[in-house]
Amino acid sequence: MSGHLTIVGLGPGPAEWVTPAANAAIAAADVLLGYAPYLARLSPRAGQVFEASDNREELVRATRALELAGEGKRIVMVSGGDPGVFAMAAAVFEAVEKSPALANGFDIRVEPGVTAMLAAAARIGAPLGHDFCAISLSDNLKPWQVIEKRLRLAAEADFVIALYNPASKARPKQIQEAFRVLSAVRKPETTVVFARAVGRGDESIEVTTLRDAPNALCDMRTLVIIGSDATRRLQGGKGRTWVYTPRSVRDE
Ligand code: SAH
Repeated sequence: MSGHLTIVGLGPGPAEWVTPAANAAIAAADVLLGYAPYLARLSPRAGQVFEASDNREELVRATRALELAGEGKRIVMVSGGDPGVFAMAAAVFEAVEKSPALANGFDIRVEPGVTAMLAAAARIGAPLGHDFCAISLSDNLKPWQVIEKRLRLAAEADFVIALYNPASKARPKQIQEAFRVLSAVRKPETTVVFARAVGRGDESIEVTTLRDAPNALCDMRTLVIIGSDATRRLQGGKGRTWVYTPRSVRDE
């Protein structure tokens, strides 16, 4: 029997945001690997093995998945959101690049998922309606100077900016540092959205400005969207606030 490895995205939380293709791959798997809280969203069927691992062991987990697929098993690696966005798909290809022989004789597939940025944007309206970029504030895998430069240049280019991994217990100050860098370039009235635990029971969405952003609740389950100069708020019915970015920019 020939094995294969499929890297699937489970979306930000709710089952209805998992694609049918991801569900089909999950149903067909012999072994599922992933960070424990992601595996906890699934229930194993008879004969399926779940191998949970720690958040920081991505390369070890990727190598293990390749070894198991090499033994002829059908392997699924799960990620939150989309597996290609700051997640396991890149870790798998890093493991393949390091040890190409590990990936001989079986297929690797990536099944897309709803990334946090898209779920957060949908909740609040259409903040990503014009050009945008995504930056992870985690400096586990890159120096802070690189993050700072990217923030500054993205702000200068007037992109809407989606910030992943804005803060954690180990890195409580980075988001504040990021606001300092952004505030040196962008107006204090710039719209900022904090979308926390989108799709989960304790979801909260806060719309504020760059001036007041340092006071907002922001943790490792938060996705932050910094508006562009054109991003605006609309008062909708039922007391709702919409945030959107028009599709066009006029000549300057
Ligand atoms: N692969 C994932 C991202 C992993 S990085 C994806 O595509 O969404 C982890 C970061 O994603 C978190 O620190 C947070 O910024 C964001 N995130 C993931 N799930 C989220 C959710 N349900 N609500 C808000 N942000 C979320």
